[in-house]
Amino acid sequence: MAKKDFYEILGVNRDASEDEIKKSYRKLAMKYHPDRNPDNPKAEEHFKEVKEAYEILSDAQKRAAYDQFGHAGVDPQSGMGGGGFSGFGGSEAFSGAFGGIFDEIFGNGGRGGRSNVYRGADLRYNLEITLEQAAFGTETKIRIPTMEVCESCKGVGAKPGTQPKTCPTCQGSGQIRLQQGFFSIQQTCPKCHGTGKFIADPCGDCHGAGRIKQHKTLAVKIPAGVDEGDRIRISGEGEHGINGGPSGDLYVQIHLKPHTVFQREGADLHCEMPISFSTAALGGKIEIPTLDGAAELKIPEETQSGKTFRLRGKGIKGVRSQTYGDLLCHVVVETPVNLTDRQKELLCELDELSRGDAERHNPRAKSWMDKVKEFFAG
Ligand SMILES: [Zn+2]
Ligand SMILES: [Zn+2]
Repeated sequence: MAKKDFYEILGVNRDASEDEIKKSYRKLAMKYHPDRNPDNPKAEEHFKEVKEAYEILSDAQKRAAYDQFGHAGVDPQSGMGGGGFSGFGGSEAFSGAFGGIFDEIFGNGGRGGRSNVYRGADLRYNLEITLEQAAFGTETKIRIPTMEVCESCKGVGAKPGTQPKTCPTCQGSGQIRLQQGFFSIQQTCPKCHGTGKFIADPCGDCHGAGRIKQHKTLAVKIPAGVDEGDRIRISGEGEHGINGGPSGDLYVQIHLKPHTVFQREGADLHCEMPISFSTAALGGKIEIPTLDGAAELKIPEETQSGKTFRLRGKGIKGVRSQTYGDLLCHVVVETPVNLTDRQKELLCELDELSRGDAERHNPRAKSWMDKVKEFFAG
């Protein structure tokens, strides 16, 4: 019996959006719902059709399979040829196998498939370093987990003295063919996972895997200038490949520990520089830290809070850069605290002396007060 087209059943175009499909389904499901059509035996049939069509078209993966292969792509009951499929039975085994097919068609297509030779997985290692180490470069040792060839069985996976046998399901090819209606698909053998071999007597140390999890220590050179999030690729230090495939790579991902004095922004460094009220007013020299030792900074008189001093070339030179960034010191004028009576007396005196000519000594405060007065008068 020829099945009706799912798009036709739902009355939507083949390029209908998810929303359009959902809308149409709701409308039709209401229309054909058996509870609403007690005297119409056809309604239930329609209702089932609509439901089935929606189940397929509302699922992106199933819809893609249906678009590509029609009903044969989504209906386990249709067109199943008997041949070449003797190792399985029952619909559950089938849907499991079918899931595998979908994986290969719609996604992990590049995972070897035919050749059974796999490149090992890439590994990532998060490495936390100090700002100084990032700025000047460093060499460090890291310990990473790794799968090493099992010494007992030399990587074969079989108990020493025994040999792996040819896989009975795929006869050693590592692949099985599924014949389904008009199309046939090659799939990795589920019994041997594509190796073509079957180990009757597994090695006691690696349990047949041929590899054992171990740790190895690697010396890693961190180049000067690396920044948060940078990745250093160490070629071939990832997981080993399978069946002679190349090893993956190890990526060392850099994280910077917070620094007590500096904040880094690319090649520039920033630091907050609290200075006393008197230094801000009278000027003076203060010692500031830089990555290559202490430096002296001249504070001019009448320096205001928020002023930034830029020390050229006292930042960091990026990995791919020829020049150094700058160090930016942000002034914060500190209001004096824990004052003695005498200190308070002097400040009061200063205040009285300044108040007479506020425009001259505190121009910002004076101008702000004037605006406030205008505001209230307005
Ligand atoms: Zn096999
Ligand atoms: Zn072994």
